[in-house]
Amino acid sequence: MNDQAHFRVRFAPSPTGYLHVGGARTALFNWLLARQAGGAFILRIEDTDRLRHVAGAEDKIIDDLRWLALDWDEGPQVGGDNGPYYQSQRLDIYERHVQQLLEQGKAYYALETPEQLDAMRAEARKAGTSISYRRPDPLPTIEQGLAAKEEGRAVVVRFKMPPDDIVVRDMIRGELVVGEGELEDFVIQKSDGWPTYHLACVVDDALMKITLVCRGQDHLSNTPKHVALQRALGFEMPRYAHLPLIFNMSGSKMGKRDKHTAVHEAAARWVRDGKWKPDDIAERAGVAADAAAAWFGDKKAKRKPEFQAMPVDGLLRLADAADVVLPEIDVHDFRASGYLPESLGNFLNLLGWSGGDDLEFFDRGHAVKAFSVDRIIKSNAKFDRDKLLSLNKDWCAKAPADRLLAAFKDWTRAAGSPMAALDDDTAARVLAACAGFRTFRDVQAKAGILFADDADIEYDPKAVKKVLAKNDGAGYATLERLHPELETVEPWTAEAIEAFFNETCEKTGAKLGDLAQPIRVAVAGRPVSPAIGETLVFLGREKTLRRIRNCLDGRQS
Ligand code: GLU
Repeated sequence: MNDQAHFRVRFAPSPTGYLHVGGARTALFNWLLARQAGGAFILRIEDTDRLRHVAGAEDKIIDDLRWLALDWDEGPQVGGDNGPYYQSQRLDIYERHVQQLLEQGKAYYALETPEQLDAMRAEARKAGTSISYRRPDPLPTIEQGLAAKEEGRAVVVRFKMPPDDIVVRDMIRGELVVGEGELEDFVIQKSDGWPTYHLACVVDDALMKITLVCRGQDHLSNTPKHVALQRALGFEMPRYAHLPLIFNMSGSKMGKRDKHTAVHEAAARWVRDGKWKPDDIAERAGVAADAAAAWFGDKKAKRKPEFQAMPVDGLLRLADAADVVLPEIDVHDFRASGYLPESLGNFLNLLGWSGGDDLEFFDRGHAVKAFSVDRIIKSNAKFDRDKLLSLNKDWCAKAPADRLLAAFKDWTRAAGSPMAALDDDTAARVLAACAGFRTFRDVQAKAGILFADDADIEYDPKAVKKVLAKNDGAGYATLERLHPELETVEPWTAEAIEAFFNETCEKTGAKLGDLAQPIRVAVAGRPVSPAIGETLVFLGREKTLRRIRNCLDGRQS
């Protein structure tokens, strides 16, 4: 048993968005700490920010945690002795603690108007200090606070910051000292009676008997406030470990903005190439003209806050129209792109942690044994998408066939792929025929059209020109010639079809590509598909012949 024995840790997401990869990494590290020494992993939903709440986000977060196989010992769906585990169901508990602090004179009702607070902020800006709130002297009494509330004024409760140094010993970052006067009296209860994050978090960490708080470094500046609150409430201080931040390879913060940037760049390209007019953007996105203009309008648009105001569905429609794949940010995005949870988990494990050896491909069992806080790296982690793709490729190549099949089927269903209807045997053959793929989306790109409706084929004009129309329509002539012959190939198996192509090559002196590529373009719209025998078996004889005929009938000279 080591120093880390029996940690009670928690993951405490706010449903103000879906599960970001940074959050997933925090959840994973906590889970590992709990699992390696018989501790407990608690899931707590911090849903007290009612303005920023995203409908359905808590369920999606829970679903994504389950997908990542991060199970919890206490929390939503499983219950536990320290619930409820949704903060919105614990308001009476917070109220009790606020009252205790008020009665003990450790907190007070603050009555400033928004204008007064603005004025304090402006003064602080002028003086170049981050401390803007000035504690009233004398403090309003409880009676004055209640009377002001009664009058309908916006009254908050502030914590009276004690004049002590606060020392936080972080297991990763070492000692952090905050001296007297460096923190202002912060709000612990909002005017609508709901607690702020600080109060709810501190109360819950104590009541849920958390012994180690392991969270992102973006919370480091909150920790001294939390420690001060713990002291005032007579709580024991848990240990702290703040995880390094995660950045894009370019050094920018990884977030929702990346999606807007990717689509914006693609849209700008389409406009530059003359394929779209700037006015098309609103229509393609299905949003009002002024919203589109704020997003796309002028050169500085990307720097303005409205840039991210384009609604998500509008952004998705634009991405689709501009043929751009959005950069994945949330776990949900990686699922949609067809990553395996095993590989995403493996990759997240390496964001800010290294086992001290070169081993980068490992499963959860290894991670539980190898993980330790002292190997967490202090410097920022970089999210290397190429590395994740190659890790996923390896995971797919090495996964047991039944596991890969199950994950693939889940994905086809979620993605609405026509391959969702395949029987297990065919689905497994599709995976084998696409071996070497990086994600399930690659499989879709290579084979999906074979199972879709004929009407879904989009002929790639470049491929049609090069493979079918060039040299006076040599490719079309090949289709005319092969069509009746394919009618007679027996049996309709990959082997027999391959044999037919090889014999035809021998007879005519053609190369396999001269025959197979026109067929591919005819049946798939592009010269890319699995091996020709498998391609045509997946299609079936009837569909193969029909697609070739349709292609010939629609021939454009
Ligand atoms: N609810 C906070 C968040 O989602 C986490 C707070 C914490 O871990 O203390 O950022």
